[in-house]
Amino acid sequence: MLTSFEKVIFIFIIIATFFAFALPVFYRYRIIRSGLPEKRFDKLLKRIKNALAKVFLQKCTLKNERLFTGFIHVFIFYGALTFDTMTINHILEGFFENFFIFGQSNFALFFSFIVDIFAVLVLVAVIFFIIKRYIIRPKAYATTLLDSGMIYFFLIMVTLSYLYFEIFALANHPQTESLAFLGSYFSNIIRNSGLNASLLSAHLKISWWLHILIVFSFIAYVPHSKYFHMLTSPFNLFFRSHKPLGELTPLNIEKAEVFGVEKASDFTWKDFLDAFTCMECGRCQDVCPAFASEKPLSPKTIIFNLKNHLRQEGKKLIKNKKDELEPLMKGIYSEGEIWTCTTCGACTHVCPVEIEHIPKIVGLRRSQVLMESKFPSELNTFFRNVEANSNPWGIGFASRADWAKELNIKLISEHPETEYLFWVGCAGSFDEKGKNITKAMVSIMNKAGIDFAILGTEEKCCGDSARRLGNEYLFQMLAGENIELFKKYKIKKIIVTCPHGYNTFKNEYSRILELLPNVSPEEREDLQKIEVIHHVQLINNLLKEGRLHLKPKKENLFTYHDSCYLGRHNGIIDEPREVLSRLSKKKIVELKNNREHSFCCGAGGGLMWTEESLGKRINHLRTDEVILSQAEVAATSCPFCLTMLQDGLKDKENKEMKVKDIAQLVAESLED
Ligand code: SF4
Ligand code: SF4
Repeated sequence: MLTSFEKVIFIFIIIATFFAFALPVFYRYRIIRSGLPEKRFDKLLKRIKNALAKVFLQKCTLKNERLFTGFIHVFIFYGALTFDTMTINHILEGFFENFFIFGQSNFALFFSFIVDIFAVLVLVAVIFFIIKRYIIRPKAYATTLLDSGMIYFFLIMVTLSYLYFEIFALANHPQTESLAFLGSYFSNIIRNSGLNASLLSAHLKISWWLHILIVFSFIAYVPHSKYFHMLTSPFNLFFRSHKPLGELTPLNIEKAEVFGVEKASDFTWKDFLDAFTCMECGRCQDVCPAFASEKPLSPKTIIFNLKNHLRQEGKKLIKNKKDELEPLMKGIYSEGEIWTCTTCGACTHVCPVEIEHIPKIVGLRRSQVLMESKFPSELNTFFRNVEANSNPWGIGFASRADWAKELNIKLISEHPETEYLFWVGCAGSFDEKGKNITKAMVSIMNKAGIDFAILGTEEKCCGDSARRLGNEYLFQMLAGENIELFKKYKIKKIIVTCPHGYNTFKNEYSRILELLPNVSPEEREDLQKIEVIHHVQLINNLLKEGRLHLKPKKENLFTYHDSCYLGRHNGIIDEPREVLSRLSKKKIVELKNNREHSFCCGAGGGLMWTEESLGKRINHLRTDEVILSQAEVAATSCPFCLTMLQDGLKDKENKEMKVKDIAQLVAESLED
């Protein structure tokens, strides 16, 4: 199609475009390489399968709430793949007259049809996004409007210029077999318009050049825009975390030079890859309880600001000039952002490209607490109380088992052969509402004949809040002491009533064993085998096994609030519903945000112990959902959630609705 002179120019354009694309990509690659090491090369087959499924079946965008938008994104994704194929064809067509990548086959005919289908779908999808972004203007889409505009412009121009070329290709070669319905329709009109052969041929040449120049400009633009996620997303999905969502990575306090994340150079390469993969869709922001309650935190902004910082400071990172980097808490992030995260995990759960927000926020907290001693003032009391008395309330540790007086409960120190350790927890030991859950569980376990004992005054705080508040030192101290007790009494099974304790024992204690000097490999193996059971799981199993008998079902209308650390973080979602279904004849009514999409009560991430002085109260937002359900009883499975929802109902002066833990509801229904 091209003359020799044009071919030379074209080759020059190909080389220029290659460098315009490759140099910024290489720059970003070098930034990513400069991050701290992190192991993400395990389970290779699983990683490949996951990434392929998420990319090619588009499970990434179809997995969450924005299903319609997800489908529209699918049009663009497959449209892009189709047009990428056609771009290769287009380039080769410049060198070889009438080249078609699929030859004269039936598939070639089919493909000509598919290209036109996707031309229509891409145009529809882009119009949808333009209306949404520039007319409806949701908060989630508020960033980089110009970049979005450029991408939409390129997508429209690539599609239209291709159709222009296709029409004149068919008009010039009417004998070509094609199912390109748009091209065929318009080429007939052109031919019937009486345009002479030389004009037809000129249009063909112009349309070819126009399309190639637009496509190549788009290619050169991609690394500078959020469309860069097209390149990085498959890798980010491949390197996704295989840990439970609620598990934090331990800090090696003995060896670490820096505690937590002070500067960008303290992030790992995966954190950098996350930043360059964010497509700024705002799904994470839409589901964030901190953002919904008008606090300064948006998980999207956390990632977006990191990306901008990396772009600006990339050279220093690549050259390892750490000293020249500004601390992130000076200008990049604010205290209001990092101290209002409940670590609920909703952001990562909905993120189509599985960006991990929590480790970044907790990393910043770690550096603030351990290096700068900067944290909300009320945490001074919290940390002191936990250090001195191993509980957040600061009540004397000697009274930890006072709730058990006159209940005739065994101490594990006196009965080390006992099957289950009943881990009572801080709320279960010291808080009135928590103690009600504890006592309900005791009556259930007694009824079912469970052989259990408690640690009594030997029990310490599990360390969940301290860890999420950035005080890794305090967490590891508490964990070390508790692990010593597990070793001493050869614990095999633990029952907990708090999802935070459940997550910490099940997912986190086993990870810090390697850092503890006095745990032998054999002991480590035994400790890693400890079975951790949440009370909802236990109750459900006991009911299924017929070891508990309930009074006949009542007509209560229940709703259920999924605790973030039980449901989303640890997948315990059906069990509480199964238990509730045995208590009432009526089907439970679900809250607006339910199951793995649950909305946090506001207490996670250690925020139970901070003043909620910014924005609205998160528990009020969740309580509104509870009230809206019109249920009579809202069931919970976490002492913190119970408190937050009861407080919410009290603040809203709602006396009709009740909030109770599932253990309390079951204990009330036990047959005499
Ligand atoms: S973990 Fe929860 S509170 Fe924290 S940023 Fe993510 S969605 Fe927001
Ligand atoms: S972090 Fe994920 S969910 Fe949030 S804006 Fe970026 S891509 Fe979207």
